[in-house]
Amino acid sequence: MTTTEGAAAGTGPSRVLVLNSGSSSVKYQLLDMRDHSRLASGLVERIGEETSRLVHTPLTGGGGEPRERTGRIADHEAALKAAADELAADGLGLDSPELAAIGHRVVHGGLRFTEPTVITDEVLKEIERLVPVAPLHNPANITGIRTAQALRPDLPQVAVFDTAFHTTMPEYAARYAIDVETADAHRIRRYGFHGTSHAYVSRKTAELLGRAPQDVNVIVLHLGNGASASAVAGGRCVETSMGLTPLEGLVMGTRSGDIDPAVTFHLKRVAGMSADEIDVLLNKKSGLVGLCGDNDMREIRRRVDEGDERAALAFDIYVHRLKKYIGAYSAVLGRVDAVVFTAGVGENSAPVREAAIAGLEELGLVVDADLNAVRSGAPRLISPDYARVAVAVVPTDEELEIAGQTFALIDN
Ligand code: ADP
Repeated sequence: MTTTEGAAAGTGPSRVLVLNSGSSSVKYQLLDMRDHSRLASGLVERIGEETSRLVHTPLTGGGGEPRERTGRIADHEAALKAAADELAADGLGLDSPELAAIGHRVVHGGLRFTEPTVITDEVLKEIERLVPVAPLHNPANITGIRTAQALRPDLPQVAVFDTAFHTTMPEYAARYAIDVETADAHRIRRYGFHGTSHAYVSRKTAELLGRAPQDVNVIVLHLGNGASASAVAGGRCVETSMGLTPLEGLVMGTRSGDIDPAVTFHLKRVAGMSADEIDVLLNKKSGLVGLCGDNDMREIRRRVDEGDERAALAFDIYVHRLKKYIGAYSAVLGRVDAVVFTAGVGENSAPVREAAIAGLEELGLVVDADLNAVRSGAPRLISPDYARVAVAVVPTDEELEIAGQTFALIDN
């Protein structure tokens, strides 16, 4: 697959605007691929409400103070125009000849999109065709693409798919053991998400080990508010914990992760809940928030340290699930070279890393308490020298990965 390594900057325009359009928010970053520097970043949130907010941070020349605008921003078009105005105020407007392309995060690429793809009318139609399997995400991504196209119709726009990295999963890992005709009629299978993060972090881990990606087997634990694990063998994903939707797998901030699917019929039949209510329960009111009322790991640890039993049980359930996946993916890979933690919880929570690896000495996994306690934004090992399997912390950078993949595609 195309990677940031492939992005050799020539003399032409070298800036890439990365857009991540959610249902009520737009995140953006402007990067220069000549030196991978960040020129600006921003967030527009609560689009369509009276309390919309735009926060724009200039990042050139040592950076500047974030600028904030509040008040209703009616829709995605207005949000992107407001972001473009902020960029223009820093001399980085979308009309700049330095802008080479816009890279869009697109959540669901189905089976069709295995690589970053230049967006044509046909590609956009295909992304629309995937709305039934990604009803919460793809519509917002499409709106973001259309709005950006209207602002700069002449500029290449590239879709980078969350699912693409996982399309290398073997069929026996991707298929659910349900009736094949029903599954195929409704495109029900395991797609996986957070793919740009798993791709970036597994590659960076190989770099940290001083080895080529094709020579290492890595278990990546992306633990943010959403969380997923993947098993990456020689640079190719062979298993991942999210499935048809991002609900499957690990315990997350507000999502249950794995449960017996019969829980859903039970809730319908016995509790009289509708499909939509069960959807909200499992996606928004479960996971850490459902178990203890908080989904921020810092707050949960504070409560655990004060002796709060609900918080302690939530923490134990979270860590137990992680351990199960580390064990399962060790078996799937056969030989593991590294287990790597990333995203908000993975990069910052030493107690989660310590507890997830504790007791796994038989698998060659050990964490050094002093190394684990170090606070750093750099990729680092937290296992002792003698350990058979490396344990690492590698900060993820989805924007850089999207910009790199976008630039590599249009620069060729
Ligand atoms: P997402 O991109 O999925 O919204 P992030 O990767 O930014 O999420 O992770 C957010 C989560 O990271 C927070 O909900 C919190 O639980 C956790 N987090 C952030 N900073 C810390 C920290 N210093 N210690 C422990 N957990 C942290």
